[in-house]
Amino acid sequence: MKKSYNRLTVEGDIQTKWICGCFETVDGFFKFCTQHSESMKQTIEAQIDKLDMTTVVEEK
Ligand SMILES: [Zn+2]
Repeated sequence: MKKSYNRLTVEGDIQTKWICGCFETVDGFFKFCTQHSESMKQTIEAQIDKLDMTTVVEEK
């Protein structure tokens, strides 16, 4: 039987959990605690800028 869960309330299949409350699931999904979610968002955005990724805008 395949396991399914709501990603917003993921509690199972945790691969790594940090003492602050952040955790990573076995399928590579990260959930950050309130302390780190904002700084992680800024870090990811900075990395995306470094990678020179282009924003894709769907044409209609
Ligand atoms: Zn944290």
